[in-house]
Amino acid sequence: MTEAEWLSASEPFRMLQVLIGKVSDRKLRLLGVAIARASWDRLSDERSRRAIEVVERFADHEVDETTLQSFVERAWDVRDEMWDAGPENCDDRLWMAEAAALTASVYEWNGTFHRTGGTDDGYPFRLPSPAHCDLIRDIFGNPFRPVAVDPAWLTSTAVAIAQGIYDDRAFDRLPILADALQDAGCENADILAHCRSEGPHVRGCWVVDLVLGKS
Ligand SMILES: [Zn+2]
Repeated sequence: MTEAEWLSASEPFRMLQVLIGKVSDRKLRLLGVAIARASWDRLSDERSRRAIEVVERFADHEVDETTLQSFVERAWDVRDEMWDAGPENCDDRLWMAEAAALTASVYEWNGTFHRTGGTDDGYPFRLPSPAHCDLIRDIFGNPFRPVAVDPAWLTSTAVAIAQGIYDDRAFDRLPILADALQDAGCENADILAHCRSEGPHVRGCWVVDLVLGKS
């Protein structure tokens, strides 16, 4: 894949093939969470949504594996109950419930994508969508043009703004982060343009992660 193809790609599997082995399990986990959150209303059972919230916290080491596992089991219960009720009655809610359970269940994302990437069974893309490509570009940036952070940009103001954005999912504050970075001497066009773009931006956004030192 070329840089131009990456920027215009509409098939998530092809993009993942570029990334696998080069990015963290945390980032891949947050991608699964972002995809689930993009279809939040189609997660028809509260247990599926709780599992996604917990796996997001697990990505940042805020909950332990035992806690996650208990939510994973409940998420699988949802999937199994729907299956037992008759898959023909569930339309895509069954696949959404299954994707949520799988998203929460996976502990080694790089290895999993190695096994499933490039196939229709690859998840969390149970129902793959071109919109997922925008989420991939938000979380991973442009792998053909990696950006190195200058420590001088990481003023207490910029870091505090980025932390607030991360904690509150307040991505409407990204233009304020751009201003703070520019005040600190950042003139990187990719960073500034990303902060001032419409998005979508999600937890794991490459600029916010860059400022917070997350990978
Ligand atoms: Zn972003």
